[in-house]
Amino acid sequence: MSDGFEFRLVPLDCPTCGAGIQALGEDVVYYCTACRNGYLLDQSDWSLRRIETAFVATAHIQVQEYRPFWLLPAKVDIHQHQAGNGGFTGILSAFFGEEGAFYDGGQGIFAVPAFQTSLESVTRLVRSYTEALPELKEKLGERLLGGCYGRQDAEKLAHYALIATEVDKPKVLLDLKYEIEFGEPRLLGVPFTKKADATMDAVFGIEV
Ligand SMILES: [Zn+2]
Repeated sequence: MSDGFEFRLVPLDCPTCGAGIQALGEDVVYYCTACRNGYLLDQSDWSLRRIETAFVATAHIQVQEYRPFWLLPAKVDIHQHQAGNGGFTGILSAFFGEEGAFYDGGQGIFAVPAFQTSLESVTRLVRSYTEALPELKEKLGERLLGGCYGRQDAEKLAHYALIATEVDKPKVLLDLKYEIEFGEPRLLGVPFTKKADATMDAVFGIEV
């Protein structure tokens, strides 16, 4: 080809144990089921960087597949906020509490899908899993496919979902100025199940 497009084949042997890693075409996150290590493809030098990975445990649910989420530790600082109409109603309430004082900053962990789905599903998933994270139990690793969003994409989606879940209070939204400082990300394998033509997460039943 003469248009300068460069096609790269990324070798998918696990850098830790040498086993082959399964992946879909656009994936940038991978999980080795042999040694139970997760990786992010570093597109600057095409190397695999290890990422701590956990999986959500479910009881009594038939799990068809696990899909990757990014876990983004975050500190949220509110710079400006219209006072007098209470606390937050969306994702920010997971960081500050519904009636919490927000002037000192809030800390929490965003759970953001690393796979492609609609923005509506992203918003519902981010909200549900960000709020439920402290209570989710973990299990050993499974096959993990479809993670085509890297860390920067996940951070943008976290901002999007944060705003989207506060829009039922437009006044607050207009006057909200905030800043998020993200920490070192991790991966979370979330169980999904299928019913007829629909695929939904196994904990909340949110369709993707
Ligand atoms: Zn391995």
